[in-house]
Amino acid sequence: VMQISGLTKTRGTRRVLDAVNLELQPGRVTAILGPSGAGKSTLLRAIAGLEDCDAGTISVSGEALTNGRALVRPEHRNIGMVFQDFSLFPHLSIIENVMFGLRTGSAASRKDRAIEMLAQVQLDSRANDYPHMLSGGEQQRVALARALAPAPSTVLLDEAFSGLDKSLRAKLRDIALQAIAAQGAAALMVTHDAEEAMYMADTLALMIDGRIVQSGTPAELYLRPVSAAAAGLLGDVN
Ligand code: ATP
Ligand code: MG
Repeated sequence: VMQISGLTKTRGTRRVLDAVNLELQPGRVTAILGPSGAGKSTLLRAIAGLEDCDAGTISVSGEALTNGRALVRPEHRNIGMVFQDFSLFPHLSIIENVMFGLRTGSAASRKDRAIEMLAQVQLDSRANDYPHMLSGGEQQRVALARALAPAPSTVLLDEAFSGLDKSLRAKLRDIALQAIAAQGAAALMVTHDAEEAMYMADTLALMIDGRIVQSGTPAELYLRPVSAAAAGLLGDVN
């Protein structure tokens, strides 16, 4: 269980994260829905250890990852991430990209695991190609395979399915949901897409101006939004 308590970050005079509380449970998906600039990516980067905060704590099963400043380095947090720009390493082949995060086991077993993950996103036939030879959507699938390959205990997805056509998007989110369930990972995803959040999330959190203004099951939020702004986010299917 990942516990985020009172996480606060100021940039200049703005609170980009304002006392954020969240609890991420194994095998469950939490989605954050919020307008552009709300602080969603900042929150994910803070959880990943790529961003310092001013106050608050992040812990996993009682062990502190941070008390404002990072205590545990990003590579030791057992977190898989797919970012908005899903950057693959251009000088590494597709399979080398997926193998990159696999630290344990023999070369042969790491390769087997990478192929298995690439097969899940239906790109095993492209294992020896390089990122520039793949379409944007294909690169996004590789980024997902790379994030999930080490079976991380926490998975962070920042607009991981944006920019894909409808059928690929549906396929990719089902692959992600299956892997998260199978691996028992705690997932936190960010999206602008209310319909996607409703479909994927066990818990939905609405973020406005650095604050979680409401969280609960998608049905609870849909039936009883706390404010007009919250209702607007849920109705904003794009
Ligand atoms: P979007 O939906 O557009 O991706 P977001 O909710 O992910 O938005 P963040 O990227 O977390 O928003 O940004 C929160 C606020 O912090 C914004 O006002 C943004 O301009 C600001 N910000 C983000 N990164 C930096 C940075 N490196 N330096 C200064 N300000 C930043
Ligand atoms: Mg963002």
